[in-house]
Amino acid sequence: MPLPKIDIPAYTTSLPSTKKEVRFRPFLVKEEKILLMANQGDDENEKVNAINQIVNNCMITELDTSNLPTFDIEWLFLQLRIHSVGDIIDMRFQHTDPDNPCKHITESKLNLKDVVVKYDPTHNKNIKITDDITLILKYPKLDASLFTLSMDDPDKIIDFLSSGIEFIKEGEKLHETKDYTKEERKEFFEQLTNQQMQMVQNFYETQPRIEHELKYKCEACGSQETVILRGLQDFLG
Ligand SMILES: [Zn+2]
Repeated sequence: MPLPKIDIPAYTTSLPSTKKEVRFRPFLVKEEKILLMANQGDDENEKVNAINQIVNNCMITELDTSNLPTFDIEWLFLQLRIHSVGDIIDMRFQHTDPDNPCKHITESKLNLKDVVVKYDPTHNKNIKITDDITLILKYPKLDASLFTLSMDDPDKIIDFLSSGIEFIKEGEKLHETKDYTKEERKEFFEQLTNQQMQMVQNFYETQPRIEHELKYKCEACGSQETVILRGLQDFLG
């Protein structure tokens, strides 16, 4: 006689990028194992792969998770964490001002259900760089390169930014950038003025993200502190 199958509960949430409702199940021992193994190492790539894989495993709604923007994956993973492990996380904070003589570490609790996706009203994925040319950008996927992207290496920045352009609208003509080589895309991008490049960078800086403002009072000196938590690494360490 086979062993019984265990009924797994299902939950729903809406996808931040499209507001489409999706169904998911909590993560199970097998996914817990993937996460534990990834967290044991220092390899950011492995952690990112683990998160992507777990989100993919747990979706009941058919969904191509490999193409979702970072903030969708982060949001989904947060919902999975809430329904799989629990919504309360113990956090430890120290004053961020290095000149503050108080080095006390205060423990505080964070309820993951209070975390929201924050949208910036100035955010726009269509960047009109001249009267005639508009760049249509795509959201970056959750990728380790985002964490390690060195802002000191101009070549890497240009690589990253030029690969984020999905379409270039030129008057009535629409160029799909995947029809062009990496070199052609780079060459196009290098013609941008500093101001136009700022507009592209602004797209990334204002993209939706999971965020929470947490207030706590230092147990030692009594001063009130506000911490802004952003992105999965701030919530789950
Ligand atoms: Zn203090």
